[in-house]
Amino acid sequence: MREAAIFRGSEGWSEFSPFLEYEKLEASTWLRAALEGANTPWPHLFRRSVAVNATLPSVPVEKVAGVLHNFEGCTTVKIKVNDFLSGAELVEETLNVIPNAKIRLDVNGSWSLEDALLYLYDFNLRFGNVFEYIEQPCLDIEDLAALKSEIPMKIAVDESIRKNLGSDFSQLEKSADVVIIKWAPTGGFAASHEIARQAGLPVVVSSALDTGIGISHSLALAASFEKLDFACGLGTVALLESDICNPALLPRGGFMSVEQREPNFALVEKYKASEERENWWKNRVTQIWKEWNL
Ligand SMILES: [Mg+2]
Repeated sequence: MREAAIFRGSEGWSEFSPFLEYEKLEASTWLRAALEGANTPWPHLFRRSVAVNATLPSVPVEKVAGVLHNFEGCTTVKIKVNDFLSGAELVEETLNVIPNAKIRLDVNGSWSLEDALLYLYDFNLRFGNVFEYIEQPCLDIEDLAALKSEIPMKIAVDESIRKNLGSDFSQLEKSADVVIIKWAPTGGFAASHEIARQAGLPVVVSSALDTGIGISHSLALAASFEKLDFACGLGTVALLESDICNPALLPRGGFMSVEQREPNFALVEKYKASEERENWWKNRVTQIWKEWNL
């Protein structure tokens, strides 16, 4: 189940959907992005469509083909992995379904440096050159720096950015090759560009499992980077039962188009939360609004 608050501002529709367990401080960053998305025109866009990757959660092997099928035309696949054995099964099945796939592993920072060295050695030995990058293999930035000098794969950072907003990212190149930027968790367009500028590394714009409204802003963010070398993780509506936009924001031929979107009100009605949940969200917005003077 995913809950999202959508609303309309002077520039169009926007989305506020921090995960339910997030504290107010973290959620306030999402609200900044949501308000900017609603009330500020998009920055200059360098392209009208964005190449996207498929996102494969940690599913049973027999479900892999079905999940990948929903990311039509995507040949880059991000796979959530926990360890070598279960991860290798998913990589193997992905390569059965898409033989020329470029693979990204997303570890969510869950490995120690020793685990990472061992598992990535095994992944490299078994699959060779199929990996585009490894996303957040370890949480610690020093561990990443140590790992970077040992492994043949590139390293991307996600949690290192998201959990350390406000830090100085100008030394990040010692620990990473690619920066994952997320529209709402990073705080919106201006905040995302500032982080990318500090890091000076290639960016990949990725979703936070938003509805099509949030995804439309993420696509605009991706399009607002002059240089975009990698497919972006924005096809994730495919992991939901439905979008609230019609047509749903899904990849076609591996690409998604960048345009302002509105909700479809029949779908909004169908997936509308209970009055109790709606009030919970209104309270959440009001509290954050007051506490941070947004
Ligand atoms: Mg990640």
